[in-house]
Amino acid sequence: MLPSPGLPSFDYIKPTSPQEVTKLLLKSDGAARLFMGGTDVFVRMRDGFIAPRFLIDVKRLPGMTAIKFSQRKGLTIGAGADMNSIARHPAVVENYPLLAEAIHSVAAYQVRTRATMGGNLCNASPAADTAPAALALEANLILHGRRGERGVPITKFFLGPGKTVLKPGEFLLRIEIPPPPKGAAGRYIKLGRNAHGDLAIVGVAALGYPDKQSKSGFSFRIALASVAPTPIRVPKAEAILSASPLTPDVIEAAAIAAMETAKPIDDVRSTAAYRKAMVKALTKRAVSEVWGEVGAT
Ligand SMILES: Cc1cc2nc3c(=O)[nH]c(=O)nc-3n(C[C@H](O)[C@H](O)[C@H](O)COP(=O)(O)OP(=O)(O)OC[C@H]3O[C@@H](n4cnc5c(N)ncnc54)[C@H](O)[C@@H]3O)c2cc1C
Repeated sequence: MLPSPGLPSFDYIKPTSPQEVTKLLLKSDGAARLFMGGTDVFVRMRDGFIAPRFLIDVKRLPGMTAIKFSQRKGLTIGAGADMNSIARHPAVVENYPLLAEAIHSVAAYQVRTRATMGGNLCNASPAADTAPAALALEANLILHGRRGERGVPITKFFLGPGKTVLKPGEFLLRIEIPPPPKGAAGRYIKLGRNAHGDLAIVGVAALGYPDKQSKSGFSFRIALASVAPTPIRVPKAEAILSASPLTPDVIEAAAIAAMETAKPIDDVRSTAAYRKAMVKALTKRAVSEVWGEVGAT
């Protein structure tokens, strides 16, 4: 369909409990759409890709915008918390700078006052900028459905472009991120067609930390955006970085493994071949920078 001005008409519903949301979703049989910031939903409605009969606003449910941190449990982010509130939260700035960096790469400040991390993950775009950070930080997603709450590790959440494991009647309540490993440092490097405000051609998150169990003395977690049908972790590259003392050659080998794992496509933003080359270059850069912080003692 061609883009057209304005929005199709819809009924706005503001439920007051998670149980009510699940009931509404089940009753509407696909005619309802959830929204929080609406920065994906309204654009898709305006462009004629979706025309939901009901829009269910879930961001004002109890606890939905809360951001909490404890040293023992880590960080809990209500699904409806806007990105700016997350990125400037003192606990995020201090303990999860990788997440703050990823959020700062999304669009512009104005969009981030509405856009939520929950919506970014549930939209399930392969290019979602908060997804690699969530993967590297091993987030757990708490969903509400017919049978109450269940947790899903982020590694199991995405099924394909726009597809998640959410069942009928289910929706995201909050994101739980465990305490970061001791001494961890992270980087998110995003390449877009311009410096700010574009979707990623490639996004690379790297998190590294001292680890006595590992032969190199360090463990790394590496995650990529925009180079596969879903955001992905790269276990092959992570294994290389654990297997022997870190040197520039070992980091190069890990970057090549990341490139080989990536299965990108050609699209309006880039060719697949360029994406592959950039996965290698940016993984090398991200890991080297993290290594400079955690290993330079
Ligand atoms: C100008 C512009 C620039 C952008 N740039 C970027 C960028 O650089 N990087 C990037 O990653 N994204 C970008 N985006 C996309 C968008 O801003 C993000 O994906 C945003 O985080 C979505 O959050 P939201 O709260 O607005 O989601 P919504 O639009 O409210 O919802 C997104 C999706 O999640 C579903 N949903 C909403 N709430 C829930 C819930 N609680 N449980 C389950 N499903 C739910 C909706 O039905 C919809 O499918 C951009 C968007 C715009 C308009």
